[in-house]
Amino acid sequence: MELYDLFPWFGAFLLGAVIGSFLNVLILRLPQGQSVVYPSSHCPRCKQPLKWWHNIPILSWLLLRGRCFYCKEPISIQYPLIELATGLLFLLVIAKEGPTIKGLLIALVFTLLLALSLIDLRFKAVPDSLNLLALTLAILAQEDWLRALHDALVLAGAFALLRFYVSYYVSKKEALMIERQIRRAPWLADYYPKFPMVEAMGEGDIMVAGTMGAILGIKLSIVAIFLAALLALPASLLQRLLKEDRELPFIPFLLAGFLLAYLFGQQILAAIGLQ
Ligand SMILES: [Zn+2]
Repeated sequence: MELYDLFPWFGAFLLGAVIGSFLNVLILRLPQGQSVVYPSSHCPRCKQPLKWWHNIPILSWLLLRGRCFYCKEPISIQYPLIELATGLLFLLVIAKEGPTIKGLLIALVFTLLLALSLIDLRFKAVPDSLNLLALTLAILAQEDWLRALHDALVLAGAFALLRFYVSYYVSKKEALMIERQIRRAPWLADYYPKFPMVEAMGEGDIMVAGTMGAILGIKLSIVAIFLAALLALPASLLQRLLKEDRELPFIPFLLAGFLLAYLFGQQILAAIGLQ
C-alpha cells in the first residue's frame, strides 16, 4: 500500500474530527438553550476568545497540555475524546460504505446519536431537534428511501408499543407496592396517587429506534436492540448495587448496539443461523 492510498482514510478521519469539534459546542450549548454559532469559542472561565490554532481538533488540546492558553484553567478531556470518537466513526463508516453521499449521511447519523448519548448521560433529556435530524438523514441516506421509511415506522411503532407494555407492568407493580403500604399504614393513603402512572423508557428512544430501522432494516434492528439490552443489563445491575436512584439513560446503549449491528450485523446473523 502506497502512502497516498491512506489519504481517503485520513481525510475521512479528519472530516469526522472537525465535525466532532462542532459537536462539542452542540453538546455544551444546545441543552441550555444557547446559540450554537454565537459567541465564538471562548474559555468558560476567563472568556478570552480562542485563536484558530487553539481550535484544531485533538492536536490543540495536546499542544496546550489540556489547559487554557490564557488563564491555565484545565480543559476537559471530553473535548479531544469526542473529536477522536467522531473521527473514528467517520473512518469506520466511510471504510464500509466508500466515499459516497450515503456514507457521509450515515456517518452524520452516528455522530448525532453520539451527541444525543452524551446529552442523555448528562441531562437525562434529549433535544428533539437532533433526534429528528438523525431520523431524517437516516431515511434520506438510503437509495430506496420508501423502504427505509417503512422500516423506520415499523421500528418506531414497535418501540412505542413496547413502551406501553413496560409502563403498564411497572405501573401495576407500583400500585401493588402502594396497596401493601396502605394496608400496613392506612393513613398513608392520602400521600399516594390513586392510580400511579409510571412512564418507562424515554420518548427519545422511539425516534432512535426509527433511525435504527431506516439504516439497518428490521432484522438487524432486532439484533441491535438485543445487543443494547445485553450491554445495559450489567450497568443496570451495577446501578442497583450502588443504590443509585436515577433512571439509566438508554440511548448510549442503543447507540452501542446500533453501531455493533451496523458493523458486524451480517456476521452476527450468519453466526446464529438467521441469514
Ligand atoms: Zn481561560
